[in-house]
Amino acid sequence: MTNPLAAMLDSHDVILADGATGTNLFNMGLMAGDAPELWNTDEPAKIKALYSGAVDAGSDLFLTNTFGGNASRLKLHSAQKRVRELNRVGAELGRDVADRASRKVVVAGSVGPTGEIMEPVGTLSHALAVEMFHEQAEGLKEGGADVLWLETISAPEEYRAAAEAFALADMPWAGTMSFDTAGRTMMGVTSADMVKMVDDLANPPLAFGANCGVGASDILRTVLGFVAQGTEMPLISKGNAGIPKYVDGHIHYDGTPELMAEYAVMARDAGARIIGGCCGTMPDHLRMMRAALDERPRGERPTLEQITAALGGFSSASDGTGEDGPKAPEGRRRRRRA
Ligand SMILES: [Zn+2]
Repeated sequence: MTNPLAAMLDSHDVILADGATGTNLFNMGLMAGDAPELWNTDEPAKIKALYSGAVDAGSDLFLTNTFGGNASRLKLHSAQKRVRELNRVGAELGRDVADRASRKVVVAGSVGPTGEIMEPVGTLSHALAVEMFHEQAEGLKEGGADVLWLETISAPEEYRAAAEAFALADMPWAGTMSFDTAGRTMMGVTSADMVKMVDDLANPPLAFGANCGVGASDILRTVLGFVAQGTEMPLISKGNAGIPKYVDGHIHYDGTPELMAEYAVMARDAGARIIGGCCGTMPDHLRMMRAALDERPRGERPTLEQITAALGGFSSASDGTGEDGPKAPEGRRRRRRA
């Protein structure tokens, strides 16, 4: 039996993924510090509206509202005993929305980082990380997710633990890291490092790539970094809608729908097969991305100069490959939400 994501990669030239989860939910009234996953049971209509927003805008694939649905993250909200339930329900709501669509839509079960630092730098053991990811994966599987979707990962140890857990759950998966620190992940991984890590996995993903990070320009440089390694695996690019800025006490992303349409076309031309947005990306952005991908012909792979001319400058002079960069975290930091 072919997995729906594998089938879609065969049938589609490019797959349009979804946009932001957090930004959309904040607009629906979620308060900073609340666990979005609790809304799967408390506010199911809003979660379905989130999913429908992406589907109606033309997304072929959307992520479930389960990014922080592991025991470590849910413990902060005294909900660590509800991992299975919150993930199952998050996926069930997605299944319902996808199955009502007039075209095939893939439900991707979002799995974010544990929020812990793994051994040997931190205290989270490999065995416990695998157990937590496995528990979440089983809930998403039970709820009918087509594929598991690891995202916003910084540490290779954590990416590997999730891959192992997804094998235990016998689920196909895709996985992205967040390159937000001068071209590297917070734990120092470069685009080239990630290709090598993915190549060495016993349970490889169907697709891999980058999400979140800094702005649309940076993530395209990262995609070009993957391509430069000669990888054959489908690549994912889910970039933020511009750069976050504080405006009147709240975070605003400055990327317009027009900019994200340009980003989507350039991501495709750079070699990405699965293209979406991350923080700040709303249905209006997705609609213009859909139209641009459908209407504009494939072009040459963009150069770094063309990327910055179209989307703005990079956050750092280099993408971290071939130079010394930050190798270790300065301290424990919670990942921001997709
Ligand atoms: Zn993001």
